[in-house]
Amino acid sequence: MHVARTLEDLRVSCTRLRGRGRGLALVPTMGALHAGHLSLIEHALATGAACIASIFVNPLQFGPNEDLASYPRDEERDLAVLKSAGCDLVWMPEVLAMYPPGDSTVIEVAGPAQRWEGTVRPGHFRGVATVCAKLFGQVGADLAFFGEKDWQQLQVVRRMVSDLHLPVRIVAVPTVREPDGLALSSRNRFLTDSERQTAPILFDTLRALAVRLAEGGPASDLLDRGRQELESAGMLPDYLALVHATTLEPINTAQPPARLITAARLGSVRLLDNIAVD
Ligand code: AMP
Repeated sequence: MHVARTLEDLRVSCTRLRGRGRGLALVPTMGALHAGHLSLIEHALATGAACIASIFVNPLQFGPNEDLASYPRDEERDLAVLKSAGCDLVWMPEVLAMYPPGDSTVIEVAGPAQRWEGTVRPGHFRGVATVCAKLFGQVGADLAFFGEKDWQQLQVVRRMVSDLHLPVRIVAVPTVREPDGLALSSRNRFLTDSERQTAPILFDTLRALAVRLAEGGPASDLLDRGRQELESAGMLPDYLALVHATTLEPINTAQPPARLITAARLGSVRLLDNIAVD
């Protein structure tokens, strides 16, 4: 497994891997890898393509009062994990390689980026879309793998790729969970022991709500009750919403393709999760 730290090295390495003739599969990450990331790598490798993981904590997608400085970083362990997973190439750019002096272009997705995370974290999806477009261009990826864990992000990236006619196919990978249902996340390590005990209530609530919504219950009443349940468990929901799965527009009845999405604060951690309603 080769580690590229400059664009020149990346280009040479990607050309070499492309020569194998099986295509290039990109797995963008911010590092602090866990089994969720590894599932993306496994899905990428299963296609037979060469697998390229990127590790880049993208400053453009963090707001001024967010956790850019304290975002977990563990380069040595990440590289060991990627190597044993069978990853072919790791792209670890410096911030200046991604955003050199004079860099003046950002990508602003409307539509699915406008609500929910887009409202709570203004500018977040601008950062995500811009860095993904750069990564797709740098690597020349044929496939790129994203987790369903970040459902809105997945729809925003798909929308951008479609709108800009980018020659990359986005592949979605199901959320990997702890045995108690908590979705794996690099930020879970910041949960205290007692918060960690509480955290699975988020997915429990989603699961129970999804069943009741699928039975045709009135969405607004059920969602209100769901928010109250989260609050009584000690969480502060930023949103709990029934949405059209690709446009992210709120809907009142669970017509397919419907998705239940949520973000809730628990102590210092924002937990994100979602579930299909069908
Ligand atoms: P991150 O490093 O948090 O930016 O995530 C990198 C990629 O891993 C994104 O496509 C995420 O959606 C995906 N991911 C994060 N957590 C999980 C999980 N628990 N299961 C599946 N994919 C995940």
